[in-house]
Amino acid sequence: MNIIIMGIQGSGKSTQGKILSDKLHIPYISSGQVFRELSQENSPSGQFIKETINQGKLIPDDKVMPIVEEYLNKPDFNAGFILDGVPRTLEQAQRFQKKIDIVFYFTLSDKEALWRLAHRNDNRDDETLGAVLNRIALFHAKTEPILEYYKQQGKLVIIDGDASIESISRQMLDNIPQNE
Ligand code: AMP
Repeated sequence: MNIIIMGIQGSGKSTQGKILSDKLHIPYISSGQVFRELSQENSPSGQFIKETINQGKLIPDDKVMPIVEEYLNKPDFNAGFILDGVPRTLEQAQRFQKKIDIVFYFTLSDKEALWRLAHRNDNRDDETLGAVLNRIALFHAKTEPILEYYKQQGKLVIIDGDASIESISRQMLDNIPQNE
């Protein structure tokens, strides 16, 4: 089963993705993590990715999708994936070749997202105030429009990201089709 988790930065995607991964025995993958690893490479491409991430900007669609698709073709993902961070733009959603079964969207206000990001301690170079504000603005401008795309396909499940971790996990499980 192929699952996507969407939500503003700090809405709990990775926490919930990992919990769901344990329950369903399907691997969790974060594109941010993949790109942070690629940014360590000592090459022009690695350098470009690093600068883009650190400014809180998006890596261009034509670079993102081939990397993500290649990653998801690994045997590790034969049983499916729980994907956090892709698609980030409508173009990425339209280019995506994999069949998506369900898309979870965690709602959260910008204020709460900023509060949570200010209090988490991930030691990331893109958690400066400027980069965080860029990432939040890009979420609204570029990522939110994808919600309508998946809604029209009947795949979107909206969950209140302010609910407790347990409640969100339960709601996700309740929405996963059985026996797949
Ligand atoms: P995240 O950990 O999901 O917040 O991603 C960290 C950074 O990686 C983002 O701010 C982007 O610079 C880059 N990134 C991750 N996924 C994507 C994507 N699907 N499209 C473009 N850039 C991405």
